[in-house]
Amino acid sequence: MSTGLPIFRYHPDPLASGSIRASAEECVCCHRSSGWIYTATFYTAQEVNGRFCPWCIADGSAAERFAGEFSDAYGLDGVSEETLHEVTRRTPGFHAWQDPHWLVHCQDAAAFLGEVGYSELAAHPDALDQLRADLRMGGWHDASQLEHFLTHLGEGASAMLFRCTVCGTHLAYADAS
Ligand SMILES: [Zn+2]
Ligand SMILES: [Zn+2]
Repeated sequence: MSTGLPIFRYHPDPLASGSIRASAEECVCCHRSSGWIYTATFYTAQEVNGRFCPWCIADGSAAERFAGEFSDAYGLDGVSEETLHEVTRRTPGFHAWQDPHWLVHCQDAAAFLGEVGYSELAAHPDALDQLRADLRMGGWHDASQLEHFLTHLGEGASAMLFRCTVCGTHLAYADAS
């Protein structure tokens, strides 16, 4: 099944994540109606009276024309400048309570898979273990409270799931209102 959408290395299924959806809406950048429209974040000081098609995201024209970025560079430490720009200027962001940001593994940005709850996260023990360790480092010292938070992900708070583009390890961070 091919939708003919551009390939986004760091956000491989923007339809599944809800960042792109079918729509007859015209793109504010290229003024074409491609059948698909971007629905998530874009940060710019300019006024943008509309939304973008996936192609204007993929080729960088939307970010260039409106001098903006689709996600925060926060967390993208140790990646090349080229990767940093590909993630922030040529990759669809996603819906989250907090500003969306990317995780890094093997010195490359990881691929965003989607927002998940506990059961989906638990299907990737590597991501669950890493998130537990991160939260503990971030100040969750009460183990039973931490387990309660983790097992209730998907109700209010949720996890943003990623997969390393190099080694395939799954990673996650917690997103809460
Ligand atoms: Zn366009
Ligand atoms: Zn890796």
